[in-house]
Amino acid sequence: MKDRTPARPPVLERRRLKRGAREAKAAREQARDRREALRDIANRHLLVNPANLGPNNSYGVPEFVQRGYYVDIPFHCKSCGIAQVWTERQQKWWYESAKGDVWAVAVMCRPCRRRERARRAEARETHLSGLSAKGKVQ
Ligand SMILES: [Zn+2]
Repeated sequence: MKDRTPARPPVLERRRLKRGAREAKAAREQARDRREALRDIANRHLLVNPANLGPNNSYGVPEFVQRGYYVDIPFHCKSCGIAQVWTERQQKWWYESAKGDVWAVAVMCRPCRRRERARRAEARETHLSGLSAKGKVQ
């Protein structure tokens, strides 16, 4: 008498298929978790757009570029010493709009930066007027 039930695949084959399905499901869940984590980061932080960064001749990759998003950076002004935060928005502006050096970080508070800029402009002015007084520049 002949067996009419379709032949089941051998047990090892069945196990292999089951394992494949299990692994595919785990991979899908992992990918979904990764997407959710990325969305979560994008909701809480400004993302780095490497295409907008200014040109630099470095082989290294700055930490914020590697990370892919900005985080607020607390620091103390090197001039007056008060505690400051270099915000994500300020960083994005500096690196991506002003095309500032990707290795540069904020070291002075805004009033001190303004004062320093004015001091340098005045020093340059004094220097150039001194040169022209000596007749070295017309
Ligand atoms: Zn300061």
